[in-house]
Amino acid sequence: MVFWPKTKRTFCRKCKKHTVHKVGTAKKGKESSLSQGRRRYDRKQSGHGGQTKPIFHKKVKQTKKIVAKLTCSKCKQVRVSCVRRCKRFEIADSKGKKNEPTW
Ligand SMILES: [Zn+2]
Repeated sequence: MVFWPKTKRTFCRKCKKHTVHKVGTAKKGKESSLSQGRRRYDRKQSGHGGQTKPIFHKKVKQTKKIVAKLTCSKCKQVRVSCVRRCKRFEIADSKGKKNEPTW
């Protein structure tokens, strides 16, 4: 389990200095229907022949790679930051939690 504070003072590329950033979790974006991989897959799948590419079934990993989203409070610039592999990622108040934050 990894704890991050709700706000974090870190470097902003646009402001070119350290500013207070709001912490959130970055989510996977919407898949583009016109990307090269999608077009190629659709082309291959069309017509007879059934499933042409393997569908992933062998799930082994217990954890996911967590990515945090940092939003600059001054210019609203969004930056992403890799956390690491962990089962749970929590954004908590630095005061409320007993556990020492691990960043
Ligand atoms: Zn900024």
